[in-house]
Amino acid sequence: MSDRQQGVVDLLVTGGLVVTMDDEWTLIEDGAVAVHNGAIEAVGSSSDLGRAYQPAETIDATGHTVMPGLLNCHTHAPMTLFRGLADDLPLETWLHQHIWPAEAWAVKPEMVYWGTLLAAAEMIRGGTTLFSDMYFFEDDIGRAAKHAGIRAVLGEALVDLPSPNSKTPSEGLAYTEGLLKRWAGDPLVRVSVQPHAPYSASAELLARSKELADRYGAIYLTHAAETAVEVSESRARNGRTPAAYLDDLGVLDRNTVLAHGVHLTDEDIALLAEKGTGIVHCPQSNLKLASGAARLPELLAAGVGMGLGTDGVASNNDLDMWGEISSAAMLHKLISGDPTAADARTVVWLATRGGAEVMGLGDELGSLEAGKRADMLLIDLDQPHLVPLCDIYSHLAYAVNKADVATVIIEGRVVMRDRRLLTVDEQELFARAREMAVEIGPRFGRR
Ligand SMILES: [Zn+2]
Repeated sequence: MSDRQQGVVDLLVTGGLVVTMDDEWTLIEDGAVAVHNGAIEAVGSSSDLGRAYQPAETIDATGHTVMPGLLNCHTHAPMTLFRGLADDLPLETWLHQHIWPAEAWAVKPEMVYWGTLLAAAEMIRGGTTLFSDMYFFEDDIGRAAKHAGIRAVLGEALVDLPSPNSKTPSEGLAYTEGLLKRWAGDPLVRVSVQPHAPYSASAELLARSKELADRYGAIYLTHAAETAVEVSESRARNGRTPAAYLDDLGVLDRNTVLAHGVHLTDEDIALLAEKGTGIVHCPQSNLKLASGAARLPELLAAGVGMGLGTDGVASNNDLDMWGEISSAAMLHKLISGDPTAADARTVVWLATRGGAEVMGLGDELGSLEAGKRADMLLIDLDQPHLVPLCDIYSHLAYAVNKADVATVIIEGRVVMRDRRLLTVDEQELFARAREMAVEIGPRFGRR
């Protein structure tokens, strides 16, 4: 291409400490990233790239670290509107008495759209550049993601009972197939197939969902082994653990991802490793609902792919991936009694490369390397809690927080600059979100 020969690029981010997250853990002091047509053209020193490229726009990253965007591999974005609705309850009470009745009443396309836009604003501000979502009316979630300029992997929640969007499982599958067709080729939005869980989706629905996912080469994600109660009920009903049951149905392979995977046996872990099935670890949701701690060290040692997720806001209560990163690091030290467990590099890897690989996007996302999509953030290091800087991975795991994220670039587009969100009118958004939530709390909140 002639513009490449002349070194013309859309954007040059220059002068920062570049954390590439490549296989060699390469760090580049006074580094730069050249971006063209939404992709990373080159990564190198500021002087080399400054000589090689003529950028249409330059971002001065002096005093910042530049790193790949964070991937939130499991959430339910519109649940932002249920934030703080009913806390400090057992999972079953919380779901049956508060969340599901609130959803039955409130979940409509407009609620989903504004709830997702609120989630997207929060996620971009915190440096998340992709979210994998399971909810209802996912087409409207895709619409909100496009508006905000954030990457999304849509997954209509497929359940046996009527959902706010589909009267029958077949309707849910047909809706999902419509999504797969409608969003094909979109640069930001992808579609997955997401049956809710082995206890809420029949064997037939779980298997038909996999057949649909395979037909479109899509990721298949379901909740599994989240609580001890779920596992004992699975043993009673199906004679096996949720993972073994899913394997019997033929749904475990490299394109399948299990959210949570808290209560896994040694045999389950060996099975997931053999099948190439990944896990989305959601430490804060599991902590808050007292579900337990996923066996992260054992899963990683067995070679199971892993990413991190916030889960929905009602069980978290935010969409802050920095919280998940530090919680994962702390939780597994406590549980194992081993302070070397879940070290800083490992947890930062989970939030970037690990998540990209689990979602089948390892070739496109998760690191700053030429040829990958241009998703990155600039973190402001000129903060009292980030001085001095000995080890950038230590800072990213234990000291950086969402307020330190200054600038976010997704698919080569600057969506936040110097903490100013460029794609969303936040005042209008907050007004709409408050207006929609005003009736939910008094009706369905904890009294
Ligand atoms: Zn979930």
